[in-house]
Formats: sequence, C-alpha cells, structure tokens
Amino acid sequence: MTAALGDNSLGFIIDRVDVGILVVTEDLEVVLWNRFMEANSKVPAEVIVGTNLLESFPDLPGKWLQKKVRSVQLLNNFAFTSWQQRPYLFHFRHHRPITGGVTHMYQNCTFIPFEGGGGESLVCITLFDVTDTAISHREVQQAHADLEELSHRDPLTGIYNRRYMEAELDKEFQRVARYGGKLSVLFLDLDFFKKVNDTYGHQAGDQVLIEVTQRITAIARGTDCLARYGGEEFAIMLPETDTVGGLIFANRVREVIEKTPVYYEEHTIAVTASLGLSEYVEGTKSYDALLDQSDKALYVAKKQGRNRVVCFLPEM
Ligand code: GH3
Ligand code: MG
Ligand code: MG
Repeated sequence: MTAALGDNSLGFIIDRVDVGILVVTEDLEVVLWNRFMEANSKVPAEVIVGTNLLESFPDLPGKWLQKKVRSVQLLNNFAFTSWQQRPYLFHFRHHRPITGGVTHMYQNCTFIPFEGGGGESLVCITLFDVTDTAISHREVQQAHADLEELSHRDPLTGIYNRRYMEAELDKEFQRVARYGGKLSVLFLDLDFFKKVNDTYGHQAGDQVLIEVTQRITAIARGTDCLARYGGEEFAIMLPETDTVGGLIFANRVREVIEKTPVYYEEHTIAVTASLGLSEYVEGTKSYDALLDQSDKALYVAKKQGRNRVVCFLPEM
C-alpha cells in the first residue's frame, strides 16, 4: 500500500499522525523526529537529528533505553512497554484540563527494529499518549480502594465494623497462638442507652455514639483496633496487652466516658459504660472464645451495677 505513496506522502503522514515517532541508530543517534515529538518536547527536528538523543534528553533512562534498542536489534523482534511498567519514556506535559494531580503524559511505547536504506541497523520508537486510559484506570483503582475501605467501616462513627474487627482479631489470635505474645479483647456497652434515645431522641443517641467513639480513639494506641460491634456495643482488640495493661486501659475508657457529659443541642447527657475484658492464655481455643469471654465479663459488669470494668474469670 505504501508503494503507491511517494516519500512526501509518507513524510506527511508521519508528521501529522498523533503518535510520537522517532528513529534512532544503535548508538541512539536520532535519524527521524516527527512533529508530535517536536510539539511535545519543544525540540525541533533540525536540532536533534544527527545528534545523540541523550544529549537533548539527559533525564531519559539512558542505560535502559540503550539496552532496549540493542536487544530489539539483536533479536530482530519488536518490543512493547506499557505505562504500567514505566509511566513514560519522555517527560512530556499532558494536555488535559483536569487530571487529578497528574502532570505528565503517560506513554505506551513500541520499539521496532528495521534496516535503513544504507543497510544500517535502526530502531523506530513510537510513543502513544495513553494519559486518558491511565487516569481512568487510576480512578477505578482508587474507587475500588475507597469501596474496600468503606466496607470495613461503620457509617455512623467511621470506626471499623464487626466483620473487619473479627478478621483482624482472627489474624492476631493466630499470630499469638503460633509465636507467643499478649492479646486482650475489651467489650464495651453503654449503660441504659435506650433511655438516652427515649429521653433525648435518636439523633442525640447517635451523637453520643459518635462522641464516645472519638474519646476512645483519642486514648487508644494506633495498633489497637476499635470497632462498633453492634448498636451501642464496641469491641477493642488490644495487641501486646495483658490483663494488667488491659485493666488500666479499660478504666481509662470508662473514666473518659463518665467524666464529661455529651452536650447535644440544649441537653447535657450523662453517659456511662460497662466493660468486659479477657486475655489470651495458652489453650484459648479461638478468637471467638476470647470474644465470648469478654461478653461474659461484660454481662457480669452489668449485673454488678454498671459503670465498671470486669475481667473474665473461668468460673463465669
Ligand atoms: P444496658 O445498660 O443493659 O446496656 O441498657 P441499654 O438500654 O443500653 O440496653 P439495650 O440493649 O436494652 O438498648 C440498647 C439501645 O441502643 C437500644 C437502641 O435503641 C439503641 N441503639 C442501638 N443502635 C443505635 C444507633 O445506631 N443509634 C441510636 N441512637 N441508638 C441505638
Ligand atoms: Mg447498653
Ligand atoms: Mg447492648
């Protein structure tokens, strides 16, 4: 098909096509530089043709490029690099108005070996602008990550939900059971919470849940895992914590809730919580057993009058 076209027509097409085309020798001396390359690099063909590519573009991955060019020549086979492996070969700006922080043009490249008119070994490099594809791909990936993160969280308080917490606890349990170490689980249930809702309304109740969450988060360690386990029930996984440490933390939580009422609109809402603590010991069967023990201890705390911390004992 190209035989019917003269050299002028071919030159015309190479210049007008919306793809970067350059031809180099095995030493990276530039033989051809189309208009796409001129427009994006601001380096005219008459300046760069006949010179070494790396002189004009010292930021290019020189060693990699040299190897690539030599290997396609040697194997006489074309090669392809995608933006996912290497976002770009030439650091060009892109031309999109809104790109979510992306400043460069993403590129797919092909390396095509061929023989020049004088029998010399040349490589044609083509550059496809795939910025749109890359940006949408990144957006989809971000959306997936956001969704996954959301699926771990409780919508009202923003802390982890029961499912996520149990998965984390299971992992931590396995780790401690295999390698040793400490692990405690704390259960917390707000006292007479139904009365809060009945007296001040459901929205006031929601505000109490949010504020309690914030207070616990503020005193917990980064490695602790706080979750909303159910309505007004929370579970806190305390890695590397035994009963002694767990009791100190549990009482701090109890105090931080009791100490200050929650202010909602014109209401001053006094809140207290009951807490049940249990610690992993050798022979604890599963993470479920730990949760169960904390729940039992919590039940005893309720029975003993609420606003207190109770530690699990085997006779419970
Ligand atoms: P106890 O001291 O025995 O724990 O008494 P309680 O009233 O807290 O216990 P109960 O389990 O009877 O009531 C829990 C209440 O928590 C019932 C429900 O209305 C409330 N609740 C559960 N989830 C939410 C929520 O998301 N928002 C609000 N505002 N209230 C909730
Ligand atoms: Mg309650
Ligand atoms: Mg409850």
